[in-house]
Amino acid sequence: MPPAPLVNLRGVDKVYSNGVVALEGVDLAIREGEFVTLLGPSGCGKSTVLRLIAGLGERSAGTIEWSSTQHEIGFVFQDPTLMPWATVFGNIYLPLRVRGVNKAQARPRVERAMEQVGLAGFGNAYPRELSGGMRMRVSIARALVAEPKVLLMDEPFAALDEITRFKLNDDLLQLWAKQRWTVIFVTHSVFESVYLSTRILVMRSRPGRVSSEISLPEKREPSFRTSAAYAEQCRTVSARLAEAMA
Ligand code: ADP
Repeated sequence: MPPAPLVNLRGVDKVYSNGVVALEGVDLAIREGEFVTLLGPSGCGKSTVLRLIAGLGERSAGTIEWSSTQHEIGFVFQDPTLMPWATVFGNIYLPLRVRGVNKAQARPRVERAMEQVGLAGFGNAYPRELSGGMRMRVSIARALVAEPKVLLMDEPFAALDEITRFKLNDDLLQLWAKQRWTVIFVTHSVFESVYLSTRILVMRSRPGRVSSEISLPEKREPSFRTSAAYAEQCRTVSARLAEAMA
């Protein structure tokens, strides 16, 4: 028998207090080590799914089951939301500080997280001194410092220029290949979803639900971006997205 999925959503509905039916009957199962992307138009409920998986907010119906009780989660938002008065080190240290880890104990963990995202040596810099891409790296390091096994990412690169975005995509893939996290990633970019994922869940809106899924081979090299196989897969996924939006 295949192992139980890491997290399993069955018949999940979400109705917000203003009456908006954000999700209806969402079924999805994520296995350990997958890089799954939720792809769909703005407003189809991608962020709502992610927040419910993170335990932020109550579902209105359905079940969300984890295969283990130990599932440290890291959450990366589109906006890096850094504390402007704190250094890079201070911002990354925050999740450990709120757990009562003192600075000396935290230092090697913060430094490791900084190294993972290419921020070694930037510990004393302030957010205002950094580019958008670097600020996003700080935000990712802050999610990694608690050593999560599951990384939830809500359009983390949407506000970045294309070159920075491509670089962060590649760095994220390299880290994922090494660390073997489970990643659940939200985007509305077909190109990003095909480049990053092992599986894409296409969502439709009103009400939000999963309309189809596409499994992709693991390839993971920058040269993939300009390959015919990539273009072909983007075409397939675009067609599925168009169906979902029809
Ligand atoms: P996506 O991430 O795909 O853009 P969201 O999950 O943010 O979609 O939103 C799904 C729907 O739920 C949208 O119609 C949005 O306006 C609505 N919505 C999201 N958050 C709230 C909220 N806190 N209160 C009321 N409606 C919300």
